[in-house]
Amino acid sequence: MKARHIGRRQFIQYASAGVALAGSSNKATWGADATAVPQSKGVADSITSQTDVLVVGGGTAGTIAALQSARAGARTLVIERGSQLGGTMTTGGVSFPGLFDAWGKQVIAGIGWELVKESVELDGGRLPDFSKVPNHHWMNQVHVNPFLYPILAEEKCEQAGVEIAYYEFPQSIARTTDGWQVECAGFGTRRRVFCKQIIDCTGGAQVVGMLNLPRFREEETQPGSMLFLLGQANNPGRGHGAPLSPLGIQHYVHGADSSNSRTVTAANLSGRRNVLAIIRQEKQRLMHLQPETSFRESYRIHGETVITVDDYVSGRLFEDAVCYAFYPVDLHTRRGVRPQPLTRGTVPTVPLSALAPKGSRDILVAGRCVSSDRSANSGLRVQASCMAMGQAAGAAAALAAEKNITPLKLPLKDIREILTKHGAIVPTA
Ligand SMILES: Cc1cc2nc3c(=O)[nH]c(=O)nc-3n(C[C@H](O)[C@H](O)[C@H](O)COP(=O)(O)OP(=O)(O)OC[C@H]3O[C@@H](n4cnc5c(N)ncnc54)[C@H](O)[C@@H]3O)c2cc1C
Repeated sequence: MKARHIGRRQFIQYASAGVALAGSSNKATWGADATAVPQSKGVADSITSQTDVLVVGGGTAGTIAALQSARAGARTLVIERGSQLGGTMTTGGVSFPGLFDAWGKQVIAGIGWELVKESVELDGGRLPDFSKVPNHHWMNQVHVNPFLYPILAEEKCEQAGVEIAYYEFPQSIARTTDGWQVECAGFGTRRRVFCKQIIDCTGGAQVVGMLNLPRFREEETQPGSMLFLLGQANNPGRGHGAPLSPLGIQHYVHGADSSNSRTVTAANLSGRRNVLAIIRQEKQRLMHLQPETSFRESYRIHGETVITVDDYVSGRLFEDAVCYAFYPVDLHTRRGVRPQPLTRGTVPTVPLSALAPKGSRDILVAGRCVSSDRSANSGLRVQASCMAMGQAAGAAAALAAEKNITPLKLPLKDIREILTKHGAIVPTA
């Protein structure tokens, strides 16, 4: 795609008049009219939302969970503490989702793939050829423009009827006769949510923690990373020769912990301090720095099923499998990482019962906090798998809200039918 440069005078013209972009056939407009936010006469400082499905965390998994839930007909609200959708993939800067394919064919599709594919196409990027088995697993990761993906995701949410609430997070949760009452805070605002089902997509299972449901956590977690670029211009959506090489684009943040705002603040301060030291040492220009540390590991749920590394590396087909996952076992330590590829032909699966906290009802999780042992989790946590889990949780929660029963009591065939209808690939014997 050819870059178009817009001069200062032209920009001012667009901004003040909201005129159609020159040369644009679809009459896209810029400027005051085009971007105006609806004005309210007085802004209420507290509101009540009545919804079927509440998704907490609009990140890699949460965006897809919300879209699937709404497309399946449920009223859906997503609450995101940050300012955009995509989570680690966009705000964290890890904008190369993998892996949608395994051993020469696509194993994860559906809504996550739809978003990834459309954003690559809109960006004039390149999609990998899934019919070829690459020499290294990361070669088939898809480079996505992290600025484009979240706005495309917002458009799809709007079309599907997903309500988005940025800068908000739950403060307390209580059971009601037919679901949950969730008190949320934002700056200058409070929201009381009544919902039937919750999907916790916070990465670290924060809602599950608030409910005192069981979670696992290692004493020392994998490092997070602060992603940045020295010297060369940032070229979003295209990758950088050596992905994640230490001097090119990431710096380990040891002890990075996504548990709460204090620990996230500490990780950001430490990551940025280190980047500054590297700039001084390397005497190169800082060309790009992500606004937040990205986190590999914190809490995982203890679910009705715990996926073990044996399940993972043997490609166990769970009876209640709702999606595939694919990636090497990929545990980062202080000494770095040595991915352990799966044996040829192996494709792990994720059961619905690994998305349900043990002893719970009316709450599912999706994303890196899936119920699993540490080694299995190091492979399960990648983005295509998180998206597939998000879609599965979205389908189950929407159906559970419709039938007024808890997701694990639903007939599996009904969940699978929704998933297939929305393009997902469901594991079969
Ligand atoms: C440095 C690094 C490199 C990686 N490399 C790869 C790779 O090469 N390929 C790959 O596919 N994967 C990779 N991963 C893994 C992958 O990016 C993540 O595991 C995955 O994106 C996690 O998705 P998630 O939906 O669980 O969480 P996230 O995408 O992190 O989403 C969680 C969302 O919840 C929000 N949130 C958190 N708490 C609250 C709250 N209380 N209330 C409201 N909102 C909240 C957050 O703001 C965020 O938007 C990497 C990860 C890291 C850190």
